[in-house]
Amino acid sequence: MGKLSAEEIRDLARRIAIDTLAPRASEIDQKRSFPWENINELRKAGLWGVSISEKEEDFEFNRVCFATLVKEIAKACASTALIYVSHTIVTKAIEYAGSPAMKKKWTPEVLRKKFLGAFAVHEPDCGSNAGAIATRAKKEGDAYIVNGSKIFITSAGEADIYLVLVRTDPEKGPQGMSTLLIEKDSPGLSFGRPEEKMGLTGTSSREMFFSDCRVPVENLIGEEGKGTQIIGKAVIGWGFFGAAAISAGIAASATELAIKHAKERIIAGQPLAVHQAVQFMITDMILETEASEALLTACATQADLFPDSAVLNGLKAKLFASENAVNVANKAIQVLGGHGYCREYIVERLFRDARGLMLHFKTSEWLRQDIAKAVMGM
Ligand SMILES: Cc1cc2nc3c(=O)[nH]c(=O)nc-3n(C[C@H](O)[C@H](O)[C@H](O)COP(=O)(O)OP(=O)(O)OC[C@H]3O[C@@H](n4cnc5c(N)ncnc54)[C@H](O)[C@@H]3O)c2cc1C
Repeated sequence: MGKLSAEEIRDLARRIAIDTLAPRASEIDQKRSFPWENINELRKAGLWGVSISEKEEDFEFNRVCFATLVKEIAKACASTALIYVSHTIVTKAIEYAGSPAMKKKWTPEVLRKKFLGAFAVHEPDCGSNAGAIATRAKKEGDAYIVNGSKIFITSAGEADIYLVLVRTDPEKGPQGMSTLLIEKDSPGLSFGRPEEKMGLTGTSSREMFFSDCRVPVENLIGEEGKGTQIIGKAVIGWGFFGAAAISAGIAASATELAIKHAKERIIAGQPLAVHQAVQFMITDMILETEASEALLTACATQADLFPDSAVLNGLKAKLFASENAVNVANKAIQVLGGHGYCREYIVERLFRDARGLMLHFKTSEWLRQDIAKAVMGM
């Protein structure tokens, strides 16, 4: 990219979000349709994959820029934002650890304009514990033969390429895990039916089944045994900030909608906004939203300056922002009363979308444990 400044990227994203993404969001939610039009719109504007860095660029697209961009998209359509974040995770894994041949095939241009990426870590029996995955990749000649399954994978069946965490050496625990880039049309790969989720309904979550799936050895990302580190850098180091930014965007939208409604809704000749009880809720929503944005910016800044702190900062930002978005969207429903419980008024979608972010990537319980352990050096 390199031609747009951070402010220009933010402003362009905001404009597209308001003019194009927001008007489509309810239909995408209700029809559960994958938002290809939104993706193509963002591609056309040069925003899709803008986070991929290139040597000649004049500014570094860091996590603060990423969080700002994702937040703008999420304010309009959280499903589109989540697909964007999943794609970014794949591009970051290639950027950090892809071989020269892989980078030649999956150039920034290709990843920005043509191909959609998704990441697949979670399995039916592993929960948020990536260390418990069972999907096995066995090297045979010039290919890995992959067997196993993944579940709840965002963009599954739609994406062209998948960053897949596999076990290459079952004897070695975390050191026996690796990451493969698996193409959609690989022999032996199939997809389950789309899950009927409560929210984030535009994202297409499906199972992935690998049955003697043949993956060329050159699709190994980084070295064998380094899967955990690559997932840490790409998924936690970027994806968690993306999840926090989606949550912050949802909270900002819910707050805006509640304020608008409180001023416009007239009961017995008075707007709702004159009542102290409503004012208290609005003030709490404003402060909680700002606190979550401030923590996200602080954590992203720390991670940008000190990459070795990216994991802990990602965990903190994601935990706080995702729980906050549920809380704020819930208050927005309260401010809107019965209207807030109806589809037409959007805040119920925001609540449903926010709820998914408390589960995705890592649940709140795991995040709390991980943060405490990291801080206490356990
Ligand atoms: C909308 C959405 C999109 C997703 N997209 C992707 C994707 O693109 N790629 C991907 O790989 N995965 C994806 N996931 C999967 C996601 O990472 C998992 O759902 C998440 O890690 C939780 O695992 P689980 O659903 O199996 O819950 P479980 O592990 O069954 O957890 C159930 C409950 O038990 C608690 N619990 C479980 N184990 C412990 C423990 N040891 N200590 C304390 N509490 C515990 C949990 O915190 C939770 O409250 C997605 C999930 C959602 C909801």
